[in-house]
Amino acid sequence: MKEEKPGKLYVVYDSDKCLGCGMCCSICPKFWEIGSDSKACLKGAVANRLEIAGEDLKCSLEALNGCVANAISITDENGKEIKG
Ligand code: SF4
Repeated sequence: MKEEKPGKLYVVYDSDKCLGCGMCCSICPKFWEIGSDSKACLKGAVANRLEIAGEDLKCSLEALNGCVANAISITDENGKEIKG
């Protein structure tokens, strides 16, 4: 039987859509802060994409759901979107 391995998870951020409301930073400060440009900054991201551990999915989905600008998405390693 094929063993299911947990796939990789990524938070993807579209800074062009960000309104700088700060909601993501309040909800999930581990990964989000407001940067010097008054927009959200996804801490440690490379090209606005950050790999997260499964234990951080809940916080990240809450940030996604709290973002009124739809600037945050979460995908698996195949680019398939994960919704909260
Ligand atoms: S919640 Fe969305 S719009 Fe608000 S600061 Fe975060 S990414 Fe930007």
